[in-house]
Parts: sequence; structure tokens; C-alpha cells
Amino acid sequence: MYWDKDIETMSRERLDALQLMKLKDSLQKASSSCYYKKLFEKTGFSPDHVMSLSDMGKIPFTTKDDLREHWPYGFLAVPKTELVRMHSSSGTTGRATVIFHTAADIDAWADIVARSMYSTGMRKHDVFQNMMTYGLFTGGLGFHYGAERLGALVIPAGAGNSRRQIRIMRDFETTIIHIIPSYALHLYSIFEESGVDPKTDTKLRIAFIGAEPHSVRTRDKIEALYGLKAFNSYGLSEMNGPGVAFECEAQAGMHIWEDHFFIEIIDPETMQPVPDGEEGELVMTTLMREGMPLLRYRTGDVTRIVAQPCSCGRSHKRIERIKGRTDDMMIIKGVNIFPVQVEKILMDIPGVGMNFLIILEREGYDDVMHIKVEVRRDLFTGNVKQLESLRRRIVEELKSDILITPKVELVEHDSLFRSEGKAVRVIDNRKE
Ligand code: AMP
Ligand code: ZN
Repeated sequence: MYWDKDIETMSRERLDALQLMKLKDSLQKASSSCYYKKLFEKTGFSPDHVMSLSDMGKIPFTTKDDLREHWPYGFLAVPKTELVRMHSSSGTTGRATVIFHTAADIDAWADIVARSMYSTGMRKHDVFQNMMTYGLFTGGLGFHYGAERLGALVIPAGAGNSRRQIRIMRDFETTIIHIIPSYALHLYSIFEESGVDPKTDTKLRIAFIGAEPHSVRTRDKIEALYGLKAFNSYGLSEMNGPGVAFECEAQAGMHIWEDHFFIEIIDPETMQPVPDGEEGELVMTTLMREGMPLLRYRTGDVTRIVAQPCSCGRSHKRIERIKGRTDDMMIIKGVNIFPVQVEKILMDIPGVGMNFLIILEREGYDDVMHIKVEVRRDLFTGNVKQLESLRRRIVEELKSDILITPKVELVEHDSLFRSEGKAVRVIDNRKE
């Protein structure tokens, strides 16, 4: 049931002791990087100020801007000759950040990805089709090496070319896919067009979905359409990429591997930690990284810690599905809304199709939220009254949840722009 029982089910006391030991080691390693050396000198911080995990607050934060300003090599803690791989973020918000790995980093990374996959029930006999972009983006190679480590047969299909993906799935009897959730919904329409039913005409049993915020409703929809179990996979390039946090078979929050990462949830305004269970920004410290250790890295991702122990027996803390990034939050007429809140409502309404787009406009002094919603294929050709009542229902349900009355336009199935990678959910035309 476990990939590494001793580590995964370790008692809190042992885990704390292990984290403290590794944290001290990480601080030492970090202090040989150009960036942290200068920062420690400037702030008067020294690694020996940390005697226990409760001293965490003494360590300065690291931000994406710090990574950008010291791009590309300022954070290296080892000579360049020790590096074997570079990756970068997908650059959804500004210039892409780069991360460097030593051979030991790559090895450790493959191990936690394998551990994550194993916790969902993936085994050596599985055929794994990785439908993520290979290259600088971590979702390709990160999953690839993890699946090989687990011993599964890996098909490095890469992203895009939907019909080919379906053909590969059928020809080689793929049992597990790794796919971006918004793309999984789109791909289903290609299945429909091809007259192939993923439930009966493929051997799919598991999907790993992640890389972008998605609601539990979207997960349910993917599970129902494909007839499989979909597990949420969270990661960010700054912390390797995939394998940071993953849902286990219980599908109730994602375990963060605490032997590799120390996590805190902070209030992004006060920058103080919030109690377990309260929502805030996820902050992470690498505990194993050699090439580029990062201390108290502000991920920008909003989540909370699930306080109760998990039924699977793993002791590593769980986080709730990511609500969004602090910089994705829309402020409309003073109300804070994450795109995933809109998605959750939409995906629960029968008749709504696979995609939507939020467009924010300023009309006079007012913020207006337009939402284009794709409608199910069979409905669009249907009668006008039916469509109008669907449109009204969408407006009402959104209004009662997000307290904003959006202008909703129903559009044809598969008519909205779809990015190759992470979905673009919002266009904000309010900014001059
Ligand atoms: P990148 O570094 O380009 O791989 O992007 C990492 C970012 O993608 C994270 O900081 C999150 O904002 C987002 N992300 C990754 N996995 C998930 C997930 N499972 N749910 C929600 N957002 C995710
Ligand atoms: Zn669990």
C-alpha cells in the first residue's frame, strides 16, 4: 500500500525531528548561494539562529521577484558543474523563473513522484500516458521519471494532437493518464466526435489532473465522463514540479511530502502564520534540495491545511485543493472572487459544456463581469426558451454565490479559445 512505509507513516515526533535536522542542513547549504549569503549578511540572520521548528519565523521569505531579480544563477548553492538539469515555470505571471537540479535532486524528485503515484493505486503493471508538454515545463519530465521509477510502462505522448492521443490510448491499452483538467474536458469532445467512449472503449482507470486550479465538480465530471478515478496533483517548478502534494486513494486533500518540504500557511497581508485549517498563502521551504535550496518561498497559492489525520494512514499533512493564486484573485465591485468559484457553480449545472471565459470590463464607474459559457452540444441546437432558462439559471446561481450579477452569454460547444497548456480563465480589460 505504501511506496516507503517508514517515511510515509512516520510519527509526528519523528517527522518533526527529521524536518529540523534537514532544515538546518538546508540553511547551511543555502548560505553558500550568492543570494542567501548576501541576504543573511544584510538581515543579520544566521543558520544557527534556528534551534527548533518554531524558529522558522526568523528566516526571511523568498519571493518570485527575488528569483527573477537574481536570474539566472544567483540562487545556486553548488558549482555549476554539479548541475545536470534546468527547468522553468510556465510563466503564467511574468517572466519565467528557472530552477537547477543536481543528479541527487533529480533522483529525489523521481522518488517522490513515484511515491505520489503509488499512493493512488498506480502499480508496475500500469501503462502510463503522459499528456503533458515535455521540455522546460516540469509536468513532462517530472512525471516521466517518476513513472519509470515506479516501474510502469511510460508513453511520453506529450501534449496536444487529440486524435493521436486517443489512438495511442486504445492501441497500447493505456490505464493511466496525466492530463490538465481543462484539456481533459476538451478531449472528451474529441472522443465524442470520434465515436469512441472512453468508459467502454479504453482501459483507462486513473487520471492525474493538476497544473491549474479546478473545482471538485470538474473532477467529478472528468471521473464520470471517462469512467475513472481522478487524483489531484499539485506542484510548482520552484519546488521541483509535480510530486509536491498529491491526493491518495482517499481523495480527500493532498499529502505534502514533509520529508522534502516544510510548509506554512500565512496571511498574505500580515505575513504571519495562520492556525491549521485557516485559509492563506502556502509558503514552502525545500529540505532536500542541493542545487537550489529555497527558504520560505511564497508560492502565491491559496489553500488551507486539512487538520484531521487521513484514513490512508499517511502522517504527512494534507492541503485542500488550491483555490487559486493570490494574483489571480479578481476584485469586482470590492468583492474578492477566484475564477475557480465560478467554475464550481458552472460545472454543477446540467447543460453547461466544457469551457467558459470571464471577461472583466469597466462600464462608467462600474465593474462588469461578462461570462461566456459553452453549452452542451445537444442543447445549442435546441429551443430558444430552454437556452434562455439555462442562461437565467446560471445568472441566478452565480449571483447567490459570488454576490455579483454577471452578464452571461451562452456560446456554442468548443467555440472558446483554449490554450495548449493551463487554461486562461479571465481577461481583464479594466486595466489601462
Ligand atoms: P509551474 O511552476 O509553471 O508549474 O506552475 C505552478 C503553479 O501551477 C502553482 O503555483 C499553482 O498556481 C498551479 N498549480 C499546479 N498544480 C495545481 C493544482 N493541482 N491545482 C491548482 N493549481 C495548481
Ligand atoms: Zn491519505
